[in-house]
Amino acid sequence: MKYNELGNTGIKVSKLCFGGLTVGPLQANLSPAEGGRIIRHAFENGVNFIDTAQLYQTYDHIHEGLKGMNRHDIVIASKSYAYDYRTAIESVEEALKALNTDYIDVFMLHEQESEHTIRGHYEALETFLKLKEKGIIRAVGLSTHAVAGVKAALKYKEIEVIHPIINISGLGIIDGTLDEMIQNVTEFHNRGGGVFSMKPLGGGNLLNRIETSFDFALNLQCVDSIAVGMQSMEEVDYNIKRFQGELIQDSLKDAVKRQPRKLHIASWCVNCGACIEKCSHSALTPGESRPVIHYDKCVLCGYCASVCKDFCIKVV
Ligand code: SF4
Ligand code: SF4
Repeated sequence: MKYNELGNTGIKVSKLCFGGLTVGPLQANLSPAEGGRIIRHAFENGVNFIDTAQLYQTYDHIHEGLKGMNRHDIVIASKSYAYDYRTAIESVEEALKALNTDYIDVFMLHEQESEHTIRGHYEALETFLKLKEKGIIRAVGLSTHAVAGVKAALKYKEIEVIHPIINISGLGIIDGTLDEMIQNVTEFHNRGGGVFSMKPLGGGNLLNRIETSFDFALNLQCVDSIAVGMQSMEEVDYNIKRFQGELIQDSLKDAVKRQPRKLHIASWCVNCGACIEKCSHSALTPGESRPVIHYDKCVLCGYCASVCKDFCIKVV
């Protein structure tokens, strides 16, 4: 496995980062024990970096995955929608407690769309920075689906790490082109910022172009690490081999090939519209009895599922 420094943070991460959303209740809904086994399998085979979020509800899975590992060998990134002192402290404390650790390597503001969003969350950012001074957080960052989010990170020198969406089709970028995204991410990286990208396979939508999509992602010089969602041992094995440039047996390729996953809204939907508001990709629009899903726009991020009180939304 190749390892890179995450910008100037002094944190060394594997090129393959375990995207922690997929094992949890917003997607595959594996139990913490099942998910933990898959995570640990990745850790035991060279992956030292995992990304999660308060929203994903996967701290228990990661806690399981860490069992038997040396905490200091693993880099954990998490994020929250905290906007002030109280919500920032609560979100970090929740992570520390659930993960049974006394520090988080990277803590980020989740889904920052522009400078305005950062301004609105600045008290939380300041709180993360104070926690960094105390050694509770090692580096502070933001995640974004927007070119404007990366541009904003360029203006705030406090932001040391970004987690932007980048894939060969530009799928999921909410406000610009793939070229604009890469240009701004490159600028951030060149000034010493750490970059770990997300959704190289467009949330499953690029699975039919898996080889070219991975080639594209792996060749980007401005990316230190790439978070890939994984929910089976076979996916872990496939991705590790792919990232190490090893030959992949046909049997493993077949095991990984699955029907493209799709978002599904259950019949008991009360049509409240909360998911439509939550989706920043315009993939949901009002429908007669439940929202209409536009599969061509959906990046399977699962965020809509997080606001559905009735738990109607699944990726299946
Ligand atoms: S949030 Fe849930 S209940 Fe409300 S419209 Fe969406 S799927 Fe239906
Ligand atoms: S519909 Fe849901 S899963 Fe699809 S892009 Fe929108 S928020 Fe993400």
